Amino acid sequence: MKIYNTMTKSKEEFVPLEEGKVKMYVCGPTVYNFIHIGNARPMIVFDTVRRYFEYKGYDVNFVSNFTDVDDKIIKKAIEEGVTADEVSKRYIAECRKDMEGMNVKPATKHPLATEEICGMVEMIQTLIDKGYAYEKNGTVYYRTRKFKDYGKLSHKNLDDLQSGGRSLLVTGEDEKEDSLDFVLWKPKKEGEPAWQSPWSEGRPGWHIECSEMSKKYLGEQIDIHAGGEDLIFPHHENEIAQSEAANGKEFAKYWMHNGFLNIDNRKMSKSLGNFFTVREISEKYDLQVLRFFMLSAHYRSPLNFSAELMEAAKNSLERIITAAGNLKYLMENTKTECMTGEEKEKYARSALYRESFEKAMDDDFNTADAIAAVFEYVKFINTNTAGDSSAEYLRLLYDRLEKLTDVLGIIIDRKEEMLDSDIEALIEERQAARKEKNFARADEIRAELLAKGIILEDTREGVKWKRA
Ligand code: AMP
Ligand code: ZN
Repeated sequence: MKIYNTMTKSKEEFVPLEEGKVKMYVCGPTVYNFIHIGNARPMIVFDTVRRYFEYKGYDVNFVSNFTDVDDKIIKKAIEEGVTADEVSKRYIAECRKDMEGMNVKPATKHPLATEEICGMVEMIQTLIDKGYAYEKNGTVYYRTRKFKDYGKLSHKNLDDLQSGGRSLLVTGEDEKEDSLDFVLWKPKKEGEPAWQSPWSEGRPGWHIECSEMSKKYLGEQIDIHAGGEDLIFPHHENEIAQSEAANGKEFAKYWMHNGFLNIDNRKMSKSLGNFFTVREISEKYDLQVLRFFMLSAHYRSPLNFSAELMEAAKNSLERIITAAGNLKYLMENTKTECMTGEEKEKYARSALYRESFEKAMDDDFNTADAIAAVFEYVKFINTNTAGDSSAEYLRLLYDRLEKLTDVLGIIIDRKEEMLDSDIEALIEERQAARKEKNFARADEIRAELLAKGIILEDTREGVKWKRA
C-alpha cells in the first residue's frame, strides 16, 4: 500500500510503527461557525483513508481535535455578547451533526484544546528547558533557528523565510529574538479566555495545541499526520519543530495533505459570495451526494464544486443505490436458495472488480479509480442477475458491494430519510389528535415515525424527537 508523503514528495510503501495498527492525527476545524464545504473535504477524505485501513484489518486510532480557543471564536463571542465557550460548544455540536450526515465516523477521540492546557504548558516548559523557547514579557516564543530541520516538510529555506518574515513582523512582536520565531503562549487581552501559566495568564498558540494533543492521545511518534494543504506551512512545520524538539523523536512518518476545494473554478470566499456551508448543501442534497462528489477526484488534486458536478454525482450515486435495491428485491423474491455451478463461476470471476478497487486504493487512495471499479461491478451485477438467480449468489454479490461502498462511506440501503419539516408536521398532527382524545391516531403517528427511525419523547417542555 502506497501513500504520498509530503515530507519526501514521493509515494512510499506504508509500514506501520506497530504491526496491525495505525496511529493517525487529523487537524480539525476551528469552531466559530458552521463548517463550510472546504472543511468537509479533509473530513471525508481522511475518514475514507481510515475506513480503508480498517477494511484491510488495521486497528486505527484516529484522533482529530476541535480548535475551541482562537481569535475568530473570541470575535464571534464579542459580536454576539456571549462567552467564547458558548460559541465553540454550539458549533462543535453543529459540526458533529454535519459529520453524521456525511457519514464521517466519530474519531476515537476528539480532544478540545481548552481541556488540554496543562499538557501544553508542560510541553512549552520542556521546550524552554531544552533551550528551544524563551519568554519575553509574558509571551513565549519558539526559537526557530535552533531547530536544525526547520523547513523540511514545506521544503522552505530559512533564509528565504527570513527575508519574507521581516516585513511581516506584527506590531508588539518586535521583542522576538528573530523574525522567524513563533508564539507558543500569549498573555490575555481584556475580555479574552485565559489560563494560568508560569509566564502569564493567557492562552496557547495554535500550533502547540496539536503537538500536545497528538502526543497525549497517540504517543510521541505517530504513523500519519494529515490536514488540508494550507496547513503544511506554517502549522505543520511548526508542529514538527515543537514535537521533535520536545520529544527527541521523529514526529510523524507520513504527512498527508488534501488539495483545495474551489467553487466554479474560483477560491471559495465570503466576499466573492461563493461560500457554502455543509448545512446549506444539506437543504438541497442528501450529504451522501456531497461525500460521493468529494471522492470522485483524487484527494491531492484541486476539486471544483459546481451545481452540474453535484447533479452528476447525484445521478452516479443513484445508479449504485438502484443496483443495490434491485439485488435486495431479487433476494426477497427468489425461489432458489443455493448457487448453481454457473453462478459460482460468475461470482469468482467478479472478484476482479474487488481487486481493481483495492489496487486503486492501494495506490495512494485513488478513490476516483476505486469508484470506477464499483461502477464496473454494478454493470456486472445488472447484467448477471435475474428473477431466477439464487439467494446465495445474490447475497454474496450484495455483501461485496456493501463492503466496497462502505470503504467510501456510502450507505447503499439508506432508508428514505424524512425531512425535519415533515416530522414536525406529523408531531403537530399527533398533538392535535391527542387534544381531541383520538389516541388511536396519535399512536398510529408515533408508530409511523418509529418505522422511519424517528423516536418521540414526551417531556415537560413538550414533544422532543430524535433519529434512531
Ligand atoms: P480551519 O477550520 O480553517 O482550520 O480548517 C479545517 C480544515 O479544513 C483544515 O484541514 C483546512 O486545511 C481545511 N480546509 C479549509 N478550507 C478548505 C478548502 N477550501 N478546501 C479543502 N480543505 C480546506
Ligand atoms: Zn493541527
